[in-house]
Amino acid sequence: MDSPFPRCCARTSPQAPICNRCCFLGNPRLYPVGVSHETIDAAGTLPAEAIDAIERAATSAHRHEELFSDRAANIRQSAVRDVFDISMRPGLVSLAGGSPYLQSLPLERLGATAARIIAEDGLTALQYGTGQGTLELRTQICDVMAAEGIMDALPQNVVITAGSQSAQDVATKVFCNPGDVVLVEDPTYVGALNTFESYQVQVETVGMDESGLVPELLEAKIAALQLSGKSIKFLYTIPNFNNPSGITLAKERRQQVVDICRKANILVLEDNPYGLLRYSGEPLPPLRADNADDVIYMGSFSKIFAPGLRIGWALVPEHLQRRYYLAAESVTLCPPTLNQMLVSAYLRDYDWKGQIETYRSLYAERCQAMLAALKEFMPAGTTWTTPEGGFFVWVTLPEGLDTYPLLHKAIDAGVVFIPGAAFTPSDEPSNKLRLAFSAVPPEAITEGVRRLAPVLQEAIAAL
Ligand code: PMP
Repeated sequence: MDSPFPRCCARTSPQAPICNRCCFLGNPRLYPVGVSHETIDAAGTLPAEAIDAIERAATSAHRHEELFSDRAANIRQSAVRDVFDISMRPGLVSLAGGSPYLQSLPLERLGATAARIIAEDGLTALQYGTGQGTLELRTQICDVMAAEGIMDALPQNVVITAGSQSAQDVATKVFCNPGDVVLVEDPTYVGALNTFESYQVQVETVGMDESGLVPELLEAKIAALQLSGKSIKFLYTIPNFNNPSGITLAKERRQQVVDICRKANILVLEDNPYGLLRYSGEPLPPLRADNADDVIYMGSFSKIFAPGLRIGWALVPEHLQRRYYLAAESVTLCPPTLNQMLVSAYLRDYDWKGQIETYRSLYAERCQAMLAALKEFMPAGTTWTTPEGGFFVWVTLPEGLDTYPLLHKAIDAGVVFIPGAAFTPSDEPSNKLRLAFSAVPPEAITEGVRRLAPVLQEAIAAL
């Protein structure tokens, strides 16, 4: 019988040990460019979880591979998720995953609420719902957006999605043909990159400085792409506390960015899951606030309530709403009714604004711990951002360094981060890295940075 593995593979079953000759190393977001079977053989020290990831990928080397769509070939394993798995190892300090800290939620009370919803309203809660989401939650979402500075949102223009991730997916489905261009900040959210690339779009980056996306660079990029005949569909931007950089788009640039896109007939996809988690500086209006026709705004309960419920939304311009909603329906049929009802109960019966205050001071404290530890331990030659909200700090090492190979050394030293290359479409080596402080207590943050410092110091010294 034919082996299910490639011809050169010595394995005979998925349980057999990994083959070091033909197994797939094609995840440049996780493995340093240039890693080969030889380096794996020689090093022999990859963490067990990384070997598992290779193993999983290797088993896809099967005759069915030729059946995959071109689209599927573009869908990659997220480095963030893989490192997330590695970071579950006992003893490691994970500054990798940007998970919210849920411990301060009133879990017992929420449990009772969920039980009550099923007991009293189960025939609705466990039934299919409308594709757009419940009217009650869409109405409440308009109040949440009002707290952000969007005062004119109407429930009829809100589409509830399975997290903001799904809202990005639906937008790409609705607007992008293969080969179309999507503009993103450099750096940007890795999950969005994976979504865009799965639709075979050309992802083009626009540079940021400490005040966010640079309007002049945006203008120049659009002009160059249009000159070469490219069709640019939207700019995807995270204006508040960008994941991964923590950078916020300056007030005076906000309208400018929308105006540049409007002039070029490009939509703006504004992703704002962290907006309410500001702990310093003045609140800034979302790009959507004064631009109802040109911005698709995406929000989420993942960071302000519970990511496991997978409830997010898109506020869609009136004239685009129908297409957007139909596409969303074709993907999920309807968002989960029980979860929507639980979120509605949370917004109706709980002090959700008070909970956000709790989160703000909690994340402010952790951010301070991170900044203080960086100041104390980081070697000369490193710089980092100072976020005014959100979950992340972005560290820059001297030019010429690549943070991917440092990840394995850091794991050996007992700390995990995400290498910067994960957050750009190019997979070029990057001298940046992301540190997340949201899910780690302050003492562990300090310890994690203390462990990381010598790894970076050694790399800098070897330059
Ligand atoms: N956008 C950004 C910028 C994010 O950081 C994340 C999650 N890390 C998401 C979207 C996805 O969020 P959700 O859970 O709402 O899908």
